[in-house]
Amino acid sequence: MPLIDQFGRIIHDLRISITDRCNYRCVYCRTGTHGPEYAELPLADYLRMARVFVSLGITKIRLTGGEPLLRRDVIELVRQLHRLRTQAGTPPELAITTNGHLLAEMAGPLKEAGLDRVTVSMDAVDPERFARITRAQNGYAAVLEGLRAARTAGLGPVKVNCVLLRGFNEDQVEAFGSFAQQEQVAVRFIEFMPLEEGRIWSPDVVVTLAEVLERMARFAPFHEIAHEPSSTSRRYVFDDGSAEFGVIAPVSLPFCGACSRIRLTSDGKIRTCLFSLREHDLRAALSAGDGDEELVRVIEYALAHKEERHHIGEPGFIQPGRSMVHIGG
Ligand code: SAM
Repeated sequence: MPLIDQFGRIIHDLRISITDRCNYRCVYCRTGTHGPEYAELPLADYLRMARVFVSLGITKIRLTGGEPLLRRDVIELVRQLHRLRTQAGTPPELAITTNGHLLAEMAGPLKEAGLDRVTVSMDAVDPERFARITRAQNGYAAVLEGLRAARTAGLGPVKVNCVLLRGFNEDQVEAFGSFAQQEQVAVRFIEFMPLEEGRIWSPDVVVTLAEVLERMARFAPFHEIAHEPSSTSRRYVFDDGSAEFGVIAPVSLPFCGACSRIRLTSDGKIRTCLFSLREHDLRAALSAGDGDEELVRVIEYALAHKEERHHIGEPGFIQPGRSMVHIGG
């Protein structure tokens, strides 16, 4: 029996944030002065919650943060998650979203522990611009090394997430086309969403899907290829087959109707949408010593209240209290 929400959507994708600490201070995500705000839990707690989710129908788990690799015990968590069995009797598909800064040394052990894939966030392929966006020194070289180590370790196909902001990096689109070909990674451009700490979002800052395609066409011809209905990304391949890229367009082309995701924050709260104004406290059930039935009840209640869609850009839109770094992207 799959997990189905009140709108008939099958929920098979769980994202777990294991910390809201981050070693980067990306200008579009963090103010630069705020630090972590929420607790992080012992591995055993994430594991127990994940086990219950998987028993209910989750088939894919993505670890995120904050920066998930700041927790060195993430390797042990992956090892334990890999031992879980989905309803079909297979290990859940395991992925991590990371800024890649610590990936060079961790890629091999993560693969060995059972990780399937990694997504690395990079918002520029130029070291100076990279430093200006992340506010971290020498980040570009470390991340490039991490990305290559992930590929060598077999954590592929490696995806690269790039958030575009007008005035910061929209001119990087073509450079990313060339980077995708050289490094054999699938770059996915993401429209900027109003989930930042500093409240700088406005529709004018968003670089839309249409604009990305227009820019990339100047680099090389490409065509669209099929994407999974529940996938967040529209997919394109260069006509010569040299590389693939994607665009995730929650603002200009929302995909809520096909949403398959549910999130767990580092402090054990369920969020049914990035833009949820309400959370469900799964950790409380856990620390109350309740049995799995109570955890199931909290999960089912949360799902019954999963939002139909987000309201970005509409009058009356309310930005959630937690920003992306504290939710888990
Ligand atoms: N630290 C990890 C990383 O850098 O990938 C994982 C957490 S980070 C919050 C996950 C992803 O969310 C990154 O690709 C980041 O660029 C993206 N992100 C952060 N704020 C965003 C926003 N306001 N709109 C769209 N994407 C955002």
